[in-house]
Amino acid sequence: MTSINSSTDVLVRAPSVATRAFALLWGLVCHSPMAIAALPAGVQLDANVERGRMLIGKVENGARVSVNRRDVRVDTQGRFVFGIGRDDSRLAICVRLSTETSARCGGVDVPGRDYRIERVDGLPPSTVSPDPAEQARIAAEAALVAKARERNDARSDFAHAFVMPAKGRISGVYGSQRILNGAPRAPHMGLDIAAPTGTPIVAPAPGVVTLVHEDMLLPGKTVILDHGHGISSVFIHMSRIDVKLGDRVESGGAIGAIGSTGRSSGPHLHWGLNWFDIKLDPAKVVESLL
Ligand SMILES: [Zn+2]
Repeated sequence: MTSINSSTDVLVRAPSVATRAFALLWGLVCHSPMAIAALPAGVQLDANVERGRMLIGKVENGARVSVNRRDVRVDTQGRFVFGIGRDDSRLAICVRLSTETSARCGGVDVPGRDYRIERVDGLPPSTVSPDPAEQARIAAEAALVAKARERNDARSDFAHAFVMPAKGRISGVYGSQRILNGAPRAPHMGLDIAAPTGTPIVAPAPGVVTLVHEDMLLPGKTVILDHGHGISSVFIHMSRIDVKLGDRVESGGAIGAIGSTGRSSGPHLHWGLNWFDIKLDPAKVVESLL
């Protein structure tokens, strides 16, 4: 509930080596260590800085903003959006108002977050791994997804209040990880909603369909819905797709139906939320609905 600028913990902390390097990179002449232990004045965020969270910022109209060294769009209302990755420990923002000749930069440490970690030992050694043809297909399909996530449309659909894309039981959470026989598997980077095959999937926020694929090896039937400014939702393992490439879908509009296509252990929707290539926690944008 605390605002990022009011956290004493953040304000008293001395800048890290990374912070100093960041300040140097941006040509920032800094005389006080306190000056870069908080976000630059004139930047407001809609929520606490937290790992996995999509955050909407606000600045004066006409300001230019970069987040973690990436220039971001600022819409006509002075809004911008970004996300914090699962293991990101630092957030840095630079802002230059239209009346200023140089950017002012600042940053805060991002607190750690406890993820659900499950250790399973004593398993027989796994002998199942994709053959070369499957590996090539997985890589080619991943490239299609990555390409769709590079879009940076001017639409501010991300600012619409998100709704749940399906009704069902939460069966998997963001950031969780299994460690099998001591070997960490890739963390789970979305929200799983378990429900019978055929359960409707709707758009959690307005957007434009930027990818439709009927048969990806691991994700099965897949749709990407782009919410603008690099924010996108992905829906996988679907049994049916009700949209086509380029469709505009309003919040609550039909996307398709839950299924178990691709590599899936049972009917569920895996909903992923991205800021460009950075995977975010969908639960954070529907927190009040869970
Ligand atoms: Zn999942």
